[in-house]
Amino acid sequence: MSLLVVGSMAFDALETPFGKTDKIIGGAATYAALSASYFVNPVNVVSVVGGDFDQEHIRLMHQRGIDTEGVQVKENEKSFFWSGRYFNDMNSRETLVTELNVLADFDPVVPESYQNCEILMLGNLAPQVQRTVIERLNKRPKLIIMDTMNFWMDIALEELKQTIGLVDVLSINDEEARQLSGEYSLVKAAKKIMALGSKFLIIKKGEHGALLFNEEKVFFAPALPLEEVFDPTGAGDTFAGGFAGYLARTGDVSFDNMKRAVINGSALASFCVEKFGTERIINLSSSEIEARVQQFVNLVAFDTVL
Ligand code: AMP
Repeated sequence: MSLLVVGSMAFDALETPFGKTDKIIGGAATYAALSASYFVNPVNVVSVVGGDFDQEHIRLMHQRGIDTEGVQVKENEKSFFWSGRYFNDMNSRETLVTELNVLADFDPVVPESYQNCEILMLGNLAPQVQRTVIERLNKRPKLIIMDTMNFWMDIALEELKQTIGLVDVLSINDEEARQLSGEYSLVKAAKKIMALGSKFLIIKKGEHGALLFNEEKVFFAPALPLEEVFDPTGAGDTFAGGFAGYLARTGDVSFDNMKRAVINGSALASFCVEKFGTERIINLSSSEIEARVQQFVNLVAFDTVL
């Protein structure tokens, strides 16, 4: 199935207990497209950057089979900039700076060659822009997956709820699920959020794995216990990209196949956190990925006698 990824492409400045970075390449679409590219080619991208964006990174994306015809370049403007600091547990972070720059008035254009997309992955971006992309497709994709973050819950809650009503799968973290629903219990939160319209809901719980909900069904995927988590930035987008890419490769959007997609997304995310930024996911081998997925399978496989 063909895949279109929409989302931010950014400069990030990060602080973790292990160190600090100056502006490095980040953004939801960057992480999601790189991750998806290990499953399906091409990965089409709709985004926007300023004249300051790193062309070398775009070239690396092309090498991975990512098509950037849908990435607008605003020569005289600055790229989106985000800065965040992680606390010692590496599961929680605070946003230090969000400079929307080119994202402030982003009018997404979907190139003609992207029109037949069967899976649409709406990465983190203003919910009105995510919605505009859905409206600009001639035909509704077979599956629309959406990611978002607390920033949009704070400043654009109504638009966010409307966009959630148009998608099939929503992917958010536990803190965001609690903020969006006003419920502490994730099971209650899931019911309230799915009532907004998305039939499937993924709640990511950082180092504690992820839950996939659909109607009364729930699936739990662990996160791989890693000796060192270096930088969690982009793990959510890498997860979502791997999830979408796996579904696109296998062409099956059933709940059972989504379980496998969640494991594959988690495997990609487990690589992402091992280094700063996109460094670890720019050049993975298929044998590395297969071995990692097998580690997930082994982690939860057990026999029992009832
Ligand atoms: P994650 O760690 O998966 O939540 O994603 C982090 C990425 O999201 C960073 O690379 C940021 O550039 C990007 N990001 C942060 N805030 C926003 C926002 N408000 N809109 C779009 N992208 C964002």
